[in-house]
Amino acid sequence: MTRFSTHDAIVIGAGPAGSSLALTLARCGWAVAILEKSVFPRRKVCGEYISASNVVLLDRLEIGDAWRATAGPEIRRVGFFSGEASVEAPMPHAAHGSSAKDGFGRALGRDHLDFLLLQAARSAGAELFQPYRAVAIERDGDIKSVRIETRDGNAGDTTTTLHAPVIVAAHGSWEPGPLPSQLEKVSRPSDLLGFKAHFTGSSLAPDLMPLLTFPGGYGGMVLADHGRLSVSCCIRHDMLACLRDKHWRGRDGPRHDSHVSAADAVSRHLTASCRGVRDALEGAHLEGLWLAAGPIRPGIRSGYKDDIFRVGNAAGESHPIIAEGISMALQSGWLLASELKDAPRGKAGREAVGRRYETAWRGLFSTRIHVAGGIARIALGPGGPALMRTAVRNVPQALTWGAQLSGKTRRVPGFG
Ligand SMILES: Cc1cc2nc3c(=O)[nH]c(=O)nc-3n(C[C@H](O)[C@H](O)[C@H](O)COP(=O)(O)OP(=O)(O)OC[C@H]3O[C@@H](n4cnc5c(N)ncnc54)[C@H](O)[C@@H]3O)c2cc1C
Repeated sequence: MTRFSTHDAIVIGAGPAGSSLALTLARCGWAVAILEKSVFPRRKVCGEYISASNVVLLDRLEIGDAWRATAGPEIRRVGFFSGEASVEAPMPHAAHGSSAKDGFGRALGRDHLDFLLLQAARSAGAELFQPYRAVAIERDGDIKSVRIETRDGNAGDTTTTLHAPVIVAAHGSWEPGPLPSQLEKVSRPSDLLGFKAHFTGSSLAPDLMPLLTFPGGYGGMVLADHGRLSVSCCIRHDMLACLRDKHWRGRDGPRHDSHVSAADAVSRHLTASCRGVRDALEGAHLEGLWLAAGPIRPGIRSGYKDDIFRVGNAAGESHPIIAEGISMALQSGWLLASELKDAPRGKAGREAVGRRYETAWRGLFSTRIHVAGGIARIALGPGGPALMRTAVRNVPQALTWGAQLSGKTRRVPGFG
């Protein structure tokens, strides 16, 4: 049986990567379906800082003004909190063109950012399937079928199939699943698990974003929208198990009456190991629950494989220690859409797009992925926090250089 396309492209996942791509293609007249398994707005494990280099892109996506109106204060200083040490240095300015405006990054909660982007994609004409989860991709000649499911109250699961020649995996990288673009489930003691919480009433300086290092992990804090402090971190699986065990046992042997959640153990470890965190959170209130995700999967993957394009974390991911994942997600969605929009349709056209996109992707992101990997290896290694404290105390400018190397001032191609 010959299948007919229901759409020109199907985008799986409505994080920053999927929405920026769907929005751009829909504006170019493509019939785009975008699927998202969660109901928005939703919070997400993420530090929520967006580098200034993205503002021109947010403007092009027509959400720049909404982002400026809602995001937290400009981050003009980069900091380092570890043990008793608190060091700070200027954040590099990312002025583009003749304008000095928007030279510093700011943080916006993912509940707001992802909702804004998805609304813009819808307004541009993308057809939204939410909450729908993609559960299978099948090939049928030039057209692929994507089976999608939603939970329909008491009626059970409802299944629908969409068809298109172009399939884009924008589903992130932290959840295993049945799609060929999803990563295999693995579990190792060295895995890094991600945690995040919002606090109100913190005393952190509004223009400062400190990197946090502590035994077995690293993290960051930044003031986001509505006075919310976003605290996020990654911690090794074996360290977390050890902390939970320690708290559960207490000083006088096992405490059978108490259960120490992973979030509790992480939160206590952060405040116990970083004076800067303790000071910033003194008198602050936790807003909502701690969230957890992972294991995270840093590394460079493929941008086009099995005739499926990949953007955002699905294509590759840096250690969150440099807070560049949203930049890479937004920019990779834009990059791929720019290559796809005028390309000849058909398999040969897609393969040519795949090659050009992968080359552009590596040129733009591979340095920051390697830099992040190097910094993370030091932070997580034995004696790493102590080594970093000595280095940063002696040369605080290293923080500014690190921010530069991690891509915070790097222009998005095609934006002057
Ligand atoms: C602790 C921590 C702190 C971080 N801090 C920062 C920071 O401050 N700044 C920064 O730039 N980056 C940060 N990052 C990285 C950033 O969060 C990610 O790189 C970014 O979210 C990737 O975006 P994405 O669109 O590729 O994927 P995601 O944001 O993960 O979006 C994927 C979407 O796809 C949906 N989905 C998944 N599977 C399916 C399916 N089968 N069907 C339908 N929908 C599906 C999901 O529900 C989700 O909404 C941090 C990461 C961690 C772990």
